[in-house]
Amino acid sequence: MEELHKQVSPSTKAIADAEELEEGLHKGLVVESTGIWTQVKLDDGSVVSSRLPGRQRLEDSDYAHPIAVGDWVKIHLENDGSGMIQYTYPRKNGLPRQSTHTRRQSQLLLANLDFLWLVQSARQPRVNTRFIDRCLVACDAYDIPAGIIINKIDLARRTDKIHLQRVIDIYAEIGVPTHTCSVLNEEGLEPIKEQMGGKVSAFFGPSGVGKTSLLNALDPSLELNTAPISSSTGKGTHTTTYALMVEPVGYPKGTMIADTPGIRELGLVGIPLEELSHYFPEMTDPRSKCKYSDCSHLHEPGCGVQEAVKRGSIVQERYDSYQAIYDSLKVPEEY
Ligand code: GDP
Ligand code: ZN
Repeated sequence: MEELHKQVSPSTKAIADAEELEEGLHKGLVVESTGIWTQVKLDDGSVVSSRLPGRQRLEDSDYAHPIAVGDWVKIHLENDGSGMIQYTYPRKNGLPRQSTHTRRQSQLLLANLDFLWLVQSARQPRVNTRFIDRCLVACDAYDIPAGIIINKIDLARRTDKIHLQRVIDIYAEIGVPTHTCSVLNEEGLEPIKEQMGGKVSAFFGPSGVGKTSLLNALDPSLELNTAPISSSTGKGTHTTTYALMVEPVGYPKGTMIADTPGIRELGLVGIPLEELSHYFPEMTDPRSKCKYSDCSHLHEPGCGVQEAVKRGSIVQERYDSYQAIYDSLKVPEEY
């Protein structure tokens, strides 16, 4: 775990929150980051296109992008109206994903989240519990509280509804809240709105589930672009390429919501194989009954976890996810 926290803390010089801003320096929130240019929102609501001095870009070798959406930074306003990023404040958490450029470097997608909502849809595409489980491991490991939103319930048939209820129950059992909604029918949106108030939240999930539509529904003035589902593949096209944070109108102060690109894989950076079961809360008790202290809970005799699966106190699908994630972590990194 120590390793993880080290990666999350910024390598750029951080200074205390309370410190007075020097002449020409402004504190702001990173609302969009596309690589070279970073959009920083200042207190007065203005958004300044900013960049990192070249040296600092190189200094941070852990991440392909040393600045993440959700970062608090200090910028110097240049004569041409652009900003130069001077400091990154310490992060309370950060969500990495596998870099698209190189598998060696991981990218920090979002920082300083109060809550991450894993967005899924009842159909087109269907709920993917393997994806949810993988994300829940990441959120737990990176100290980000998480919940699930299942959109497009208007498309759910009777059998889907039975399945959805089972999914809701499985996650409720391990303390993960689920909301169901239909942006199309404007159903179930009020409870979701209430969850957003005063928090920095993010929507995360595959493309096509309706993340952008949901954001538009929570604040129609945003008018963000959404993409129609491809009729041949049933999958959404990529409309959001980068994470983007918005301040929705009509919410309590401090409410921010981030939309993220449809990402298939979330990097489980730095999670040691032997600690994987620590991120499955239902395995905590059964694990203490394992015969071997270094039990992988896969094939050893006298394994409390496997017994709990047989008894039904650990849900089979969750255990299957554990196995799948275990296998994926075992694959050596490509260099
Ligand atoms: P994103 O990729 O997750 O941001 O998804 P979008 O917001 O771009 O939506 C993908 C597609 O799903 C669009 O064609 C939306 O019109 C459609 N969609 C969004 N919400 C709903 C819903 O509640 N019901 C149905 N039937 N379609 C929806
Ligand atoms: Zn075991």
